[in-house]
Amino acid sequence: MSESTVQLRLIPYPYRAMLAICSDLDETPDRHVYRQIMRFLNTAQTTPMGEGLDLEVGNTIYFDMSPDQFAYWNTDDAGRAMLRTLIRSGHIDCLHSFGDLATTRAHAARALDELCRHDCRLQVWIDHATAPTNFGADIMQGHGDEPGHPACHADLTIDYGIRYVWRGRITSVTGQNVPPRWGGLLTPAHPLASARTLAKETAKHLLARLGNIRYAMHGPNRLLRPTTLRTGAPVCEFLRCNPHWGGVSSCDTGRQIGSVLTQPVLDQLQRRSGVCVLYTHLGKIHRYDTPFDPSAVAGLRRLAHAHHAGRILVTTTRRLLNYCSLIDHLRFRASHQRTHITIDLALPPSASLSQGLTFCLPDSRPATITVNGTPLPDVRTNPPDHLGQRTISLPWPRLEFPDL
Ligand SMILES: [Zn+2]
Repeated sequence: MSESTVQLRLIPYPYRAMLAICSDLDETPDRHVYRQIMRFLNTAQTTPMGEGLDLEVGNTIYFDMSPDQFAYWNTDDAGRAMLRTLIRSGHIDCLHSFGDLATTRAHAARALDELCRHDCRLQVWIDHATAPTNFGADIMQGHGDEPGHPACHADLTIDYGIRYVWRGRITSVTGQNVPPRWGGLLTPAHPLASARTLAKETAKHLLARLGNIRYAMHGPNRLLRPTTLRTGAPVCEFLRCNPHWGGVSSCDTGRQIGSVLTQPVLDQLQRRSGVCVLYTHLGKIHRYDTPFDPSAVAGLRRLAHAHHAGRILVTTTRRLLNYCSLIDHLRFRASHQRTHITIDLALPPSASLSQGLTFCLPDSRPATITVNGTPLPDVRTNPPDHLGQRTISLPWPRLEFPDL
């Protein structure tokens, strides 16, 4: 490598790929199931599905739903306290619209007031079904950012702190932020269905190249794009992925996640060094007492194994989006002295902004990272990664899961 080739590593050291299980809470029956799912995913405690996976997995919340659905206003005081605790710890990180029954700005304002009153901050918005408060105009038929509509709430919600929005766009391509590849979609055991999925996905890419707006994100296969809501507010839109051979809405539940998190899919994500925000609904389950069946548990354990072996970084949607946004926008300058390299970041000095940031180094000279000239503490010089590359990085501290 030449002197000028200090490079950003697109995935934090030592991982090869990055994944967030991004689960919409639709049909979660009650707070007990929600809690069991979160404990199984985020702790190593004993659960009805066996020992927990000790991962970092977020969840979603909405407010105004029919009484049979777990939602903020439907659950009891203990349920609401649990939800607020999980928001504050970062384990609930997405607002899943304000719910099917939130039809006015007043519904949105009531929910946002409640969140603010309890110092509960969320940065990620995910459209739900055909909820009136959705932002997506095409796929999700939303009115949440339509000026003059009774359900328009975008100004309040953006002021509250929403920065990332999902407006219904899903891809079958395993791994984003890498060139689109369709290998792996065609499944010999399911030739017709998988060929149809492949044809649909390639059609979306073709349409994107021809200027189609609905599928514009599928063309470059980037996770994030800057865009504006209909009110003019700037946001980042993100793309979710369901790599199942049956299509983007196939097996998108807790009942069937075992056939999505297959070894070939996990291997492919690593080979491509991609990032993935996985579209699913973990609360759609078979049994209340044991939310995940053996097949789902096996799939989730495969993912946990890849994480604990240092191959796939599993984290919350918000953390993954923040990291990828930083990578998209970071400007840095490397100065090469005879015995030393200094990498200076043009960033506001915030530790949380640069968590996990990793640079590939051209040789064995020691290196430091500074922000606007001030050295950062905690910079680590790492053993070579799986490609033999030398790196330095900032720590990726784990979120602390609360005692529920
Ligand atoms: Zn939903």
